[in-house]
Amino acid sequence: MNFVIKITIEIPKNIDICSTFKSNIKMEKQEKKRGVLSSVFSMKCPRCREGDLFYTHTFSYSRPTEMPEKCEVCNQSFSPEPGFWFGAMFVSYIWMAWFCLFFVGGGILLAGMSVNGAFALLIVICAIFYFWIFRISRSMWIHIYVSYDPLAKSKNKARLASK
Ligand SMILES: [Zn+2]
Repeated sequence: MNFVIKITIEIPKNIDICSTFKSNIKMEKQEKKRGVLSSVFSMKCPRCREGDLFYTHTFSYSRPTEMPEKCEVCNQSFSPEPGFWFGAMFVSYIWMAWFCLFFVGGGILLAGMSVNGAFALLIVICAIFYFWIFRISRSMWIHIYVSYDPLAKSKNKARLASK
């Protein structure tokens, strides 16, 4: 003898399970904080990792060297002490020297380029990425100097509210 048991579950039609699930995922994604490398390379404020270090997009070439005085999100100063940005010059010198060495060395030894050809290509690349190199070095330098504070944004909101 066989028995068949039927179970029916009724889901109220006004609840859309799928969209509730999706919005939960969306919220989790928004809460997930930016990592340090992502912050350096997208040139965000090191303290809150949300505010922009520069006014314009890197390859817009308008106002390439101008930065806001403070972060618009957390109020972190972008010039914490006089002559602060001299340090970025040394950062750019260190990593660019290694880059040039490996680029020219790789061009000659691996790609079989002539010395003049490798240097010419290097100069063209450096000219195109001039402001990107300038900016990324500043971003690296301020990320070394200023540490991340996950509560920076809410602290600044509280500070503004108490005024
Ligand atoms: Zn900030």
